[in-house]
Amino acid sequence: MLPKFASVIAKTREEALSWLSSLENPRIIAGGTDLMVRMRAGKQYSRVIDVAGVPELLTMTETDGRLSVGSAMTHARLSTSEPIIRNARSLAMACGLVGSPQIRNMGTIGGNLANASPAADSIPPLLIHDAVLVLESKETRRRVPLEEVIVAPYVTSIDRKELLGSVEINPLRGYREGYRRVAKRATWAISRLGVAFAIREDKGRFTDVKLAIGSCTPMPFRPKKVEDLLKGAEKNEAIITEAIRMALEEIKLISGIRPSYAYKLPVLKGILEEVLRG
Ligand SMILES: Cc1cc2nc3c(=O)[nH]c(=O)nc-3n(C[C@H](O)[C@H](O)[C@H](O)COP(=O)(O)OP(=O)(O)OC[C@H]3O[C@@H](n4cnc5c(N)ncnc54)[C@H](O)[C@@H]3O)c2cc1C
Repeated sequence: MLPKFASVIAKTREEALSWLSSLENPRIIAGGTDLMVRMRAGKQYSRVIDVAGVPELLTMTETDGRLSVGSAMTHARLSTSEPIIRNARSLAMACGLVGSPQIRNMGTIGGNLANASPAADSIPPLLIHDAVLVLESKETRRRVPLEEVIVAPYVTSIDRKELLGSVEINPLRGYREGYRRVAKRATWAISRLGVAFAIREDKGRFTDVKLAIGSCTPMPFRPKKVEDLLKGAEKNEAIITEAIRMALEEIKLISGIRPSYAYKLPVLKGILEEVLRG
């Protein structure tokens, strides 16, 4: 049984911002695939604002070389979107692996980010694309890097009165880019490990390497020291081995020793070997 709640359906961004400002303790719902689960488990949200049909949150634009993705766009739509496949292949791949067809048709990128699960599949790809979130209230508008928005597992700096309007991403062209995910089953399963990568090489050297690892640490992260080590380095087994050693060390430094690392770290090692060797 769901707890009782009042809901309003916003038809425009303006209307959503107005409801957010005027209602006491409001809660946004988009696809509801996270929120309804929480409500079924007994969590009370008395005033819910549905933004799933707000046209401004369902559009994608390209400005000054950056892509702006509406927060209510679903995983299904993003996984098959031509501009996303062309500019952010790891994001298209990750969205195509979320949950099941039903979840991908309901779940949105905004909900995935605002929920801030350590296992959220869209986060590692968005980290390597230096995503910036556009957060709006009736009075304010701020652009905040994704890395700063997620402050702890399932905790963000998004204010209750703020709407995540869009996500801006840096396209990556000329990179070998992708997303690798390990889960207990192919569908209906949360990611146990997710790795987004974008690698550029020239004449046997790494010219740029972007990596982000999810589901291993309290928050998905970019191993920046590993990226720096590889950038400009000759591509050989010694540097790849050292890069992987550093990545695994960093994870242990962030999280300490966890029982799941007995299988996660060897699997991650295998993924990184495959990805870096190309
Ligand atoms: C069976 C199942 C399988 C799943 N599998 C996966 C998986 O493989 N990978 C994965 O990453 N996730 C998975 N999920 C989680 C979920 O589907 C995703 O996180 C999804 O993207 C959430 O989007 P939503 O639109 O449904 O969010 P909602 O449930 O509508 O909202 C989630 C949170 O975000 C907030 N919110 C939503 N939109 C906005 C906005 N525009 N501005 C501000 N706050 C907002 C809500 O208030 C709420 O706190 C799964 C869920 C289920 C039930």
